[in-house]
Amino acid sequence: MERDSAMLCDRIWTHARIATLREGAPDMGCIEDGAVGTVGGAIVFAGNAADAPDAREVIACEGRWITPGLIDCHTHLIHGGNRAREFEMRLAGASYEEIARAGGGILSTMKATRAASEAELVASALPRLDALIAEGVTTVEVKSGYGLNAETEIRMLRAARRLGGERPVRVETSFLGAHALPPEYAGDVDGYIAMLCDAWMPQVAASGLADAVDAFCEGIGFTAEQTRRVFEAAARHGLPVKLHAEQLSNRHGAALAATFRALSADHLEYLDEDGVAALARAGTVATLLPGAWYFMRETKLPPVEGLRRAGVPIAIATDCNPGTSPLTSLLLAMNMGATLFGLTAAECLAGVTRHAARALGLGDRIGTIEVGKSCDLAIWDIESPAELVYRMGFNPLHARIWSGQ
Ligand SMILES: [Zn+2]
Repeated sequence: MERDSAMLCDRIWTHARIATLREGAPDMGCIEDGAVGTVGGAIVFAGNAADAPDAREVIACEGRWITPGLIDCHTHLIHGGNRAREFEMRLAGASYEEIARAGGGILSTMKATRAASEAELVASALPRLDALIAEGVTTVEVKSGYGLNAETEIRMLRAARRLGGERPVRVETSFLGAHALPPEYAGDVDGYIAMLCDAWMPQVAASGLADAVDAFCEGIGFTAEQTRRVFEAAARHGLPVKLHAEQLSNRHGAALAATFRALSADHLEYLDEDGVAALARAGTVATLLPGAWYFMRETKLPPVEGLRRAGVPIAIATDCNPGTSPLTSLLLAMNMGATLFGLTAAECLAGVTRHAARALGLGDRIGTIEVGKSCDLAIWDIESPAELVYRMGFNPLHARIWSGQ
């Protein structure tokens, strides 16, 4: 890039090694002696330090690595209580489905969440959010789905939005009313779906509290047909969709999601070849959640090689939730993506930056270090980006920049 003598940056980070993660760039789009400049929170320069414009504030990075700020594109950060007791039960031999039938599982979190005020939900989520932020996360997706009534679902979404006011982080929200069947609707799944679609969806859409609509298509969740009704209601209100799909069995949820041009299909252990092809055709992101796979001691691996061959963008997220993935480390999720699922270091990095941005419909605004995008950066004390994937339980973050600050 040519030096722009007229440009004066608010701030510039210079003499850094930069992994831009630009689309199509080889080797993570690395720049050896690079600089990133910002004006008004946006990136206005990303290139060789020698070409960098002037700035009011110059920060020498002394050869540290800069990556895009990390993006956790699938979390259930907002919830009441925790499920350590259930964890103990599972250690003693009970299965996820047995615990669900015994009134544990999602429903126990539902009770705790319904009982919590908005302030309590925010307060209990902040330490989890802070753990993510401490690892360089600058954008986080947060779902509802533990209220399972209109009032609590809205309260969860409002609490999620408030997290973005409490901390310097971008919060994207998903309405996950179709997470589980609440006891009030026992024996009447279709009645619940009708209520969700006809009464709650308009309310959620009008409130502006949800950026997307999600559902759990599974034997212990909702059928593909019920999921379709939720997606049709979302479409009527102009909300994009995403889906928990093919986690415990193949219900062809990912293919259904693809027909609605879903932002992402998530989990995908039981995804078949047709599902892979459908995701590829729709440009839907495959979000892998190795924390849940690990915590539930699953054995069926997601079809990484098939996704790779078909050119489906792969994201990685924590799935932070109290029941199946109490994980608040996106760095560890990357390590699991590599160690358990066989992703390369470069795929793991793209999975928590460029592809995670796309899974949130924000591919044009965040996820890479490029002119015009939000200046969300993570600065690391590492020798190479692969070190972020390699280590377990070690956090080499030097500084985190959100919107140029
Ligand atoms: Zn989830």
